[in-house]
Amino acid sequence: MWVWKLIKLIINLFKKTKIEEDAPAEFSINQYLNERAKWIKFGKPLRREEERHRIFDICFSCDRFIKESEAEGNCSICGCGIKKDGNLFNKIAWSTTKCPLRKPKWIEEKEEYQSIVKISMEELENAEKEHFEEVNAPKPCNCH
Ligand code: SF4
Repeated sequence: MWVWKLIKLIINLFKKTKIEEDAPAEFSINQYLNERAKWIKFGKPLRREEERHRIFDICFSCDRFIKESEAEGNCSICGCGIKKDGNLFNKIAWSTTKCPLRKPKWIEEKEEYQSIVKISMEELENAEKEHFEEVNAPKPCNCH
């Protein structure tokens, strides 16, 4: 009987640890726009290619990564797109972002980006506007 109790105790401890490691799981457009507004506020810094690849490898081997191909996928915790290359819908391209786990596997590129910044409604609206401009921008054509 005590063996069963011990097993249950270990299982519960394991579950508790897992929950504590995770950040709130829901991805929302507000969360995305807040991230984007913060990135704009710091002057849109982008990670260098080697750094982006280093982080991509961390995500790729993470059990929270939902793989779409060898070069892209999504984080199941924050819902963000994670790509080896490119800046569009790619969380790891922006230097101001970090892994959403409570014990993050990778963090913002500079210490100053770790500070909590106040985002105004105007900055959110600007972030939203920029996002749609980026999404609707004509794609480069190699047909000539
Ligand atoms: S952002 Fe963090 S939790 Fe999400 S896939 Fe990457 S390493 Fe894992």
